[in-house]
Amino acid sequence: MYAIRIHEPGGPGVLRYEEVPVPEPGWGEVRIRVRAAAVNHRDLWIRQGLFGGFAEPFIPGSDAAGEVDALGPGVSGLAPGDRVVVNPGLSCGRCAACLAGMQNACPHFRIFDGTYAEYAVLPAANLLPMPSGLTFAEAASIGVPFITAEDFLTRSGLLPGQTVVVWAATGGLGLATVQLARLRGARVLAVTRDPGKAEALRGRQFDEVLLWDGQSDLTGEVRARTGEGPELVVDSLGSATFRQSLAMVRRGGTVVTVGATTGGRVELELGEVFRRRLTVLGAYLGASGILGRLLPLFARGVLQPVIEHTFPLEQADQAHEQLEAGAVFGKLILEPPGA
Ligand SMILES: [Zn+2]
Repeated sequence: MYAIRIHEPGGPGVLRYEEVPVPEPGWGEVRIRVRAAAVNHRDLWIRQGLFGGFAEPFIPGSDAAGEVDALGPGVSGLAPGDRVVVNPGLSCGRCAACLAGMQNACPHFRIFDGTYAEYAVLPAANLLPMPSGLTFAEAASIGVPFITAEDFLTRSGLLPGQTVVVWAATGGLGLATVQLARLRGARVLAVTRDPGKAEALRGRQFDEVLLWDGQSDLTGEVRARTGEGPELVVDSLGSATFRQSLAMVRRGGTVVTVGATTGGRVELELGEVFRRRLTVLGAYLGASGILGRLLPLFARGVLQPVIEHTFPLEQADQAHEQLEAGAVFGKLILEPPGA
């Protein structure tokens, strides 16, 4: 089969399109024919070596949709040809956290990699039936952003009528957060740097859109619109915005840190956190039950996948370049040959 592999960390050019053996499913595992894989920021960080080097060639990619191709021993309830969506959270399934349904708190929790390929092998428990009415690309676009956003919105205790500020609102995670927060009855202030994207957000009835030039302090504008400040700020940018996030959130409010696309180092005045009784909440994917609960909402059109562009798998480097440049409204999708 053909797959994208990384042999050493670096720029988009290290994504090599090459022929590799088709993986065999082991006990309890299923091989899927990948019809669409989504690009996540995590894939960029892995490629750049932020999670370590590569002892052997590595196939990135966590989100995908496709068809069951072959079953390993011990698998029941699935048949070749079934359309499935990948739930990329892998956990032990036996510890107290797993049994309580909080798989991302499992000591063995990790996120699956390997969907930038014609075939991928996953535990059967990580495959969910694909809702009818969705394309493979749409189904592949949901996983990481929607699971992550639903998990931190639940843990933040966000209530109807409360206010959320979402930085980078036009990225995959941003659009997932905006949709899920509105579904909970929250007021959403969506922040974007691009006037064209701001218009696109307004066109989707996300009417409170703040334009940010990448440097200025939005705290004043957010306070002017919200009085005491929002109950929740969702910050996926990191060093460029985190201090503003802390400054703008209301007393007793929560700042979610989820990825740090502008860098992970910030200087923090702890007095600001404890005197104002703030919560800093870290988010990393979510419980494995979330995707199964959200998929029917996509089937009914309550939630919408947003896809910026679909590339042939071979052009994964171009997709990475585009995501790195921030030139996306929604998700970038890779399609293997024959998809
Ligand atoms: Zn566990």
